[in-house]
Amino acid sequence: MEHRGGTGSEETGRGIRQVGHWIGGRLEDTGRRTGPVFDPSAGEVIAEVRFGDAEVVHRAVQVAERAQRAWAETSLAQRAAVLFAFRERLRARTQELARVVSREHGKTVADAEGEVARGLEVVELACGVPHLAKGEFSEQVSRGVDTYSVRQPLGVVAGITPFNFPAMVPLWMCPVAVALGNAFVLKPSEKDPSASLVLAECWEEAGLPPGVFQVVQGDGEVVEAILAHPGVAAVSFVGSTPVARRVYEAAAAAGKRVQALGGAKNHMVVCPDADLDEAAAAAVSAGFGSAGERCMAVSVVVALEPVGDALVERIAKRMAEVRVGPGDRPGVEMGPLVTREHRDRVAGYLDKAAEEGARVVVDGRRHPVEGPPRGFWLGPSLVDEVRPGMAVYDDEIFGPVLAVVRVADLDDALELLRANPYGNGAAIFTRSGALARRFAREAPCGMVGVNVPIPVPVGTFPFGGWKQSLFGDTHVYGRDAVHFYSRGKVVTSRWVVAGSSEVRMAFPAAS
Ligand code: NAD
Repeated sequence: MEHRGGTGSEETGRGIRQVGHWIGGRLEDTGRRTGPVFDPSAGEVIAEVRFGDAEVVHRAVQVAERAQRAWAETSLAQRAAVLFAFRERLRARTQELARVVSREHGKTVADAEGEVARGLEVVELACGVPHLAKGEFSEQVSRGVDTYSVRQPLGVVAGITPFNFPAMVPLWMCPVAVALGNAFVLKPSEKDPSASLVLAECWEEAGLPPGVFQVVQGDGEVVEAILAHPGVAAVSFVGSTPVARRVYEAAAAAGKRVQALGGAKNHMVVCPDADLDEAAAAAVSAGFGSAGERCMAVSVVVALEPVGDALVERIAKRMAEVRVGPGDRPGVEMGPLVTREHRDRVAGYLDKAAEEGARVVVDGRRHPVEGPPRGFWLGPSLVDEVRPGMAVYDDEIFGPVLAVVRVADLDDALELLRANPYGNGAAIFTRSGALARRFAREAPCGMVGVNVPIPVPVGTFPFGGWKQSLFGDTHVYGRDAVHFYSRGKVVTSRWVVAGSSEVRMAFPAAS
């Protein structure tokens, strides 16, 4: 099948690729302001993204409103057919989409393929929409009276997504929203905007009518316009905690349904009985995969003494072997950070950690790099003897820096988790079922891993954190998504038999 090469964008006379919006099935590059899109490995600008504004958002919502009315009238079978076709288009274009993600984000192509695969799980969930959308029916709730419930679409819903998963996070949202009969307006991160247009092309190729999936590029100005627009019924947000809180408050104040997922500081607890080689390998994979730019990255290893020394030694040894370079180079395991500013901010925590009394065991600034010198490189770092109150512990760093906190026992480890403002994921490494069970019950977070360092649930279970990692109640995807992207209606019906009508003024009770 023909498509536009996965960039969804055009060269202009200025010779730089323009990344535009996708409205009503067409690319457009309106908008006064633009932003640079980098290749983080080369440290160079490779495209320019058009920033929408309130006018572009308004037009996108109006077109979506019209398209949604017709889309909601299609049968469940027709919608499921589009979802199945979307799955096939995504599978066919996975390699290409992964390269688009890798080029603008910096993560390795293999890692980007993984994010598409995790997104596909949600598409597969949405393929079951005829089953997911089922209501309930009770016959004879009162004499001659039946009651049934249905789920109906909300209308136009919006998704606002972060830079770190430019394919997967939109795919956490749009498949179920669209399958249930809504139109979806996506506002991707301005740092890596092109993946959104590959998704738009896949939807079009799958036969989704124009206007049901829209993309408006931009920054906070577009977000504010979405939050203020009366035509947007619900907002799904994923990003940092301060913005998540702002989105939650503004959307709720405007009467919208909202789920806003924020930042994280995920702890991995290693018990004395754990397989330390296994735990060290898991800490390196989960701490430095995607350069630590994952909301489910492990950022704190909690070592239950006496394992601290042995664990730190094993982690440091494995870190030395991590190959850092451009994401499309074979054998590379870790790419650059997303921008120069972010790299510098993350590196700054190493100096601060030393000043605050922690021990920098491995300084990622000295790690060998196989890429162009102007790339936004930072190798993996390990900081031991970290305590709450130090910036390296308190802040979400969102980079390849692993902090080690040493504690006496599981009580202390759980206390640490309870005091932390975030509650996304946590993991325990142990051979004891009793310790694991206690941890799973008591860890104050939304997702727990037992000998699994990044416990991202599969598509059939919901994803979401507690505390400042999620504002709202429903989590994303799984059955929660069916609830979030539809509203309930309960119908109570009685079919009168001729000649049986009577006036009853008392409040009706079941009889
Ligand atoms: P971010 O909060 O800077 O941006 C997220 C989205 O909000 C983007 O689309 C951006 O354009 C928009 N935005 C940014 N500033 C805004 C503002 N002031 N007003 C309105 N909108 C604004 O996040 P990011 O840097 O793109 O992504 C990294 C963050 O996302 C990390 O904190 C990470 O933990 C978090 N994250 C969380 C999850 C989760 O499931 N909880 C998943 C992925 C990422």
